[in-house]
Amino acid sequence: MAHSSVVRVEERPLSSREAELTHSLTSINPEWAGVNVAALRIIGECRCGCQSVVFAKPPEPQSVLAVGHQNLVGEMSLSIRTASGDDTISVLLHYADGSLSLLEVIWYNFPDPIPDEWTELRREITIR
Ligand SMILES: [Zn+2]
Repeated sequence: MAHSSVVRVEERPLSSREAELTHSLTSINPEWAGVNVAALRIIGECRCGCQSVVFAKPPEPQSVLAVGHQNLVGEMSLSIRTASGDDTISVLLHYADGSLSLLEVIWYNFPDPIPDEWTELRREITIR
């Protein structure tokens, strides 16, 4: 089920949640800290309920060092409190060939959709 439900969407800017998650991961990775999150555009969304999104490939690579490679910029583990209890979300920021490619949200309660609102209890970030 790994994000097989991605559909192409009309190009749009990031939502405030997507921008915040992306910026938290780029800003602490020296190779990606220069990425202007406000300029990023989304062209794909996963419809399984996880809210993973696919970035448009920019005309110029965002990290020259990353051209020809793909890997993770970083990952985040969020401990959250929702109306139905405490939970964990993992967020993986991927790059491919020099630019951010995918903001992958792993929600362990599939097929329930990710909650719209939560209170963040703790955040752990690992950069690659
Ligand atoms: Zn999904």
